[in-house]
Amino acid sequence: MSENAHKVVIIGSGPAAHTAAIYCARAELKPVLFEGFMAAGVAAGGQLTTTTDVENFPGFPDGIMGPELTDRFRAQSVRFGTVIHTETVESVDLSQRPFRFKTDSQEGTAETLIIATGATAKRMDIPGAGDGEFWQRGVSACAVCDGALPAYRNQPLAVIGGGDSAVEEASFLTKYGSKVYLVVRRDELRASKIMQQRAFDNAKIEILWNTEVTACKGGDGLEAITVKNNKTGETRDLAATGLFFAIGHTPNTAFLAGQLETDEQGYLVTQPDSTATNVPGVFAAGDVQDKKWRQAITAAGTGCMSALEAEHFLAAHGG
Ligand code: FAD
Ligand code: NDP
Repeated sequence: MSENAHKVVIIGSGPAAHTAAIYCARAELKPVLFEGFMAAGVAAGGQLTTTTDVENFPGFPDGIMGPELTDRFRAQSVRFGTVIHTETVESVDLSQRPFRFKTDSQEGTAETLIIATGATAKRMDIPGAGDGEFWQRGVSACAVCDGALPAYRNQPLAVIGGGDSAVEEASFLTKYGSKVYLVVRRDELRASKIMQQRAFDNAKIEILWNTEVTACKGGDGLEAITVKNNKTGETRDLAATGLFFAIGHTPNTAFLAGQLETDEQGYLVTQPDSTATNVPGVFAAGDVQDKKWRQAITAAGTGCMSALEAEHFLAAHGG
C-alpha cells in the first residue's frame, strides 16, 4: 500500500470517531483519522468542546468538562496507534473501492470509510445569546445535557421550538425548573400528536403561541428573556435562568455531495441494527446518522459498531 492508501479512514472527531479509532487500532487496522479544522464551525473534538460539565458519561462520577473528555478520547486513540490529521475532509469519491478522499493538503484512498462527522445544533442569532454573552451561561442547545445544572433548579426556564425535540426537552426540564415556557413561533406545534398531548397535559409547561424571543438579559448568568407576540406586536420580559434552543440540528454531510442515502432532514441512513450505509464499505456512526438520541454515549456505541463492521467487511472483502 502506498503512503496514502489506508484500510480504514475515519472522518470526524467526537466520541463516535474516537471510539471507532480505538477499536480499529486495537484490531491492527492502522486507522487514519481526520479530525477537521473548525469543520462545520466546531473545533476538533466535536460538540462536547462547546459545553462545560458532562455528568452523564459513565466513568466520571464527579462529572468532567466537555473539552477534557474529548482530549481523553483523542489520547486513547493515539495510544493505540491512530494517526490523526487536523484537516477537514473536503470531498470523497465513493463511486468505486478503494474510495478516494481529499483534504486541502492531501489526497488518499481508503478500503473502508467511517463517517462520524456529527451534527451541529442550530442556534439563533438573538441579542445576548451568543458566545461571550449568555451562551452556556443560561443559553444552551441541549436540555438533556445541561438541564440538571444547579442554575436551573426551581427556576423558570424556556425552550424555543415546536417539534418533538422541543416538547421532549420541555418535558424533561419540568423535572428541574419551577415552570417551563415553550416558545412557539406559530399557532401550532410541529410535534407528533402524542408529544403534543404530553405538552398540553403537563401543568408545568406554558405554551407561548406566535411568540419569538428577541433578547436575553442578566448579569453573570441569564436572568430574563424578552418575548414578542408576532401577531399583536406585544413585547414583555419573562424571568428565566435557562433558554434552550430546540430548533433542529444540521447533520454534517455536505462534503459527501449526495453520494450516500439520507433521510429528508439530511441524516445518513443506516441499515437496521447496523452502521452500514447504502454503499458497501462505508459506515456511519454518531449524530450524523442519529436524529433521535444524540448523546455522547450513544455516539460512542455506534462508533464501536462501525469499527467492528469495518473489520468484518475487510475480512470478507480483502483490503
Ligand atoms: P460530534 O461531537 O458532532 O463531532 C463531529 C466532529 O467532526 C465535528 O464537530 C467536526 O469537528 C468534525 N468534522 C465534521 N465534518 C468534518 C469533515 N468533513 N472532516 C473532518 N472532520 C469533520 N451529550 C452527552 O451525552 N452529555 C452531555 O452532557 C452533552 N452535552 C452537550 C452540550 C452541548 C452544548 C451540545 C451541543 C451537545 C451535547 N451533548 C452531550 C451531545 C453530544 O455532544 C453529541 O451527541 C456527541 O458529541 C455526538 O458525537 P459525534 O461523535 O457524532 O460527533
Ligand atoms: P424539527 O425540524 O421537527 O422541528 C424544529 C422546530 O423548531 C419546529 O417547530 C420549527 O418551527 C422550530 N424552529 C425552527 N427554526 C426556528 C426559528 N428560527 N425560530 C423559532 N422556531 C424555529 O426538529 P426536531 O429536532 O424537533 O426533530 C427532528 C426529527 O427528530 C423529527 O423527525 C422528530 O420527529 C424526531 N424526533 C423524535 C423524537 C421522539 O420521537 N421522541 C424526539 C426528538 C426528535 P416550525 O414548526 O414553525 O417550522
